[in-house]
Amino acid sequence: MAALFSRDELVAATGGIDRGLPEEGVFSISIDSREIEPEALFVAIRGDRFDGHDFVEAALSNGAAAAMVAEERAAGLSGPLLVVPDPLEGLRALARAARARSRARIVAVTGSVGKTTTKEGLRLAFSAAGDTHASVKSFNNHWGVPLTLARLPRKADFGIFEIGMNHAGEITPLVGMVRPHIAVITSIAPAHLDAFGSLEGIARAKAEIFSGLEPGGIALLGADHDQLDLLREEAKKAGVETIVTYGFAEGCDWRVVNYETLGDQGSAEIRHGGERYRLAVAAPGRHMMANAAGALAAAVLSGIEPDVALGALSAFGAQAGRGQKALLGDARNPLVLIDESYNANTASMRAALEVFAGQAAPGGRKVVVLADMLELGRDSPALHASLADAVRESGADHVYLVGEGMGALAEALGSRRVTLHVKSAQELAEPLLDSLAYGDAVMVKGSNGMRLAGLVQKIRDKF
Ligand code: ATP
Repeated sequence: MAALFSRDELVAATGGIDRGLPEEGVFSISIDSREIEPEALFVAIRGDRFDGHDFVEAALSNGAAAAMVAEERAAGLSGPLLVVPDPLEGLRALARAARARSRARIVAVTGSVGKTTTKEGLRLAFSAAGDTHASVKSFNNHWGVPLTLARLPRKADFGIFEIGMNHAGEITPLVGMVRPHIAVITSIAPAHLDAFGSLEGIARAKAEIFSGLEPGGIALLGADHDQLDLLREEAKKAGVETIVTYGFAEGCDWRVVNYETLGDQGSAEIRHGGERYRLAVAAPGRHMMANAAGALAAAVLSGIEPDVALGALSAFGAQAGRGQKALLGDARNPLVLIDESYNANTASMRAALEVFAGQAAPGGRKVVVLADMLELGRDSPALHASLADAVRESGADHVYLVGEGMGALAEALGSRRVTLHVKSAQELAEPLLDSLAYGDAVMVKGSNGMRLAGLVQKIRDKF
């Protein structure tokens, strides 16, 4: 197997100093000393809380073949080193080098919701047709994108990259490295609204993704939101000639119709031009079907046979913390746990509550735990309150609310509809665990910062 980067390539790409790099090069790249693949290059990145230079020794003893470190720290370090002025910049240089030599077809995904889920759909659809390299987890930021790109194998046929942002101007440099052939924007919704002030501001920032498109590249746009016209305009301004849309909205190029939920699956017809395809996926929810339609469209636009992509997408399910369902305990009368603890904004809350409305509870009792949606700025109270109808329509018998932001929803629902409203997930643990019983269906959703993952773990531990 050829090295991911030979010794000469490492030096040429980064302009760094070779202090004993291995003859055979490196076969992988890592920035986490606890997750080192054999013969990897460990890149010592400085984060907010940790400095990778403090973990060089650990990385090398965990199997790293070498470490890329900053000049100012190199004197105090031993072992095989690549010494550069700034390791993060060095990682970017490796990313650009990996992209420059690649002949892969590249897809980049951004959006306010559904990036990671859609990325997984793309991974499935493209993997069925060729060697596919994709972002792991939600590695979508200033280090996640270059790390993923630097790991792009020489011979990959397809590369799928998730690109995230919290502020305007963040996507441009990332997509400039990735240089996709297809730029996907899943949806525009109020997430990180505090940093933007308006949905238009969010849409403009997401539209930065068009700036990195390869010549002749395609803008592939989810259409089920009200900023589509603005995204189209921005794509045109960026010189994009081919704009393709997908979703439930009327007039979509890849349109979902006749959507049905069948148990834990979703099924629909996708209409494209004169063609009609039957698409079934392994999770319920209109949002999942829309994401799948986007993955199908990207695959077909990349020359993949529709049947190949459709077959692969039948395994497309919810991701960990993003709607994954678990049956805990006795199979005849389990506790049904729907784990949406990873994150929340109004769009994903609505999507999750809509799915929960169709969820049966074996014993009949349905419970939701909803925690604050963070970073929504001054519209936060109104946006929390706006979920009241979705909560009522979810059929929840018990509604537990967590966090200050949820005060506005508690008020909108009225005290009789709210079982308990507390400040923190920790405070909720005891009363919730005391009240849950086998036969219940419980969904837990809120922003990551509300720490619901710990609560989900406690439910798993008890049942
Ligand atoms: P983040 O930026 O927080 O990493 P993301 O954009 O990657 O989020 P996902 O992690 O894919 O989004 O999904 C987050 C939640 O959004 C899921 O739990 C699911 O409930 C919901 N979701 C997924 N796709 C959509 C969609 N197309 N529309 C609305 N909600 C969605």
